[in-house]
Amino acid sequence: MSRVKEGIRQKKDGHYELPLQFKKDNPADLASKEASAAQLKDSCWLKGPDFLWQPNLSVKHIIVKVDDPDPELRKAHVHTVKAENTNPLISRHSKFSAWSRAVKAVARLKKCVRRRSGGQVWTDQTTNLKERRKAEFFIIKLTQEEAFADDIKKIKCNRAEKLGKRNKLYRLNAYLDANNILRVGGRLSQSALHHDVKHPAILPRKSHVSDLIVKYHHERVDHQGRGMTMNEIRANGIWILGCGSIVSSHIYKCVPCRRYRRTTEVQLNSPSRNSQMNDIVILKDECTPRNEWKLATVVEAQPGRDGMVCKLKLVLSETSVDKGKPHTRLINLERPIHKIVTLVEAN
Ligand SMILES: [Zn+2]
Repeated sequence: MSRVKEGIRQKKDGHYELPLQFKKDNPADLASKEASAAQLKDSCWLKGPDFLWQPNLSVKHIIVKVDDPDPELRKAHVHTVKAENTNPLISRHSKFSAWSRAVKAVARLKKCVRRRSGGQVWTDQTTNLKERRKAEFFIIKLTQEEAFADDIKKIKCNRAEKLGKRNKLYRLNAYLDANNILRVGGRLSQSALHHDVKHPAILPRKSHVSDLIVKYHHERVDHQGRGMTMNEIRANGIWILGCGSIVSSHIYKCVPCRRYRRTTEVQLNSPSRNSQMNDIVILKDECTPRNEWKLATVVEAQPGRDGMVCKLKLVLSETSVDKGKPHTRLINLERPIHKIVTLVEAN
């Protein structure tokens, strides 16, 4: 194909023409032209191009140069894909829905590895506070390494000033402690506060670990508001970037908070009395004005399974004038309870 491209030339009428050696070897070229039976017999139409009958095909590497304005050139779009290596332990954290369970699982895992490497047999012993605290920092460190990989490299090489003034870590005066955990710097270094409170560990805004920590501390303060939850997180030595909005978003989605903070329900007025026999009622009629609604007497009121009357049997008297004499007749009918208004109660 590349050889064909090399020899193609454009004619004056805008069409393209194949070079002569390709025309001879191209059986399809014969189909578009007039040829006698004798010519066809010796042509490549029946036996194929000559080079296919040779025992060894000659391989010739040709560099093809195609001009950009070639209208027959198909434009290809190439997408670049950037693959990011994620730590498998970080992706495993998304399986946990509670921070305490994630910490316990990592602490037990680390304990198991330690025992195995020391040649000891695994026992069902629970982890202690120190081990769980170490596991917390281990998870935080992994999360930081994933989220702030480039920034940590710069801080390690003492090039923190290259972070850029818009970088949040630059504004927090972030530094790496002895355990390589990214912490907030700042002016509180001389204060008497605990080290973790003075220099909290920094966590990214969009991270499952950050969400778990917000959920854990929000539940620890018994579903109190945004300020109390944020204070609890910071008092435990953690600084989440954009913490306020994450906490607000969590409280908005928190089921107990939605239940506690919803508006007070208004009690519906339930009927104080069931309709009874001999009640005088007015029949609602949407098609006539209210002052023309008719009166009726209840003759039967059967309560349903819930003890409430839903349907009434009524009788009403209708008077008509025939030849100057009034005629009164009784009409029996059934009405649902919501279609009547009680006027006079029987008792
Ligand atoms: Zn809540």
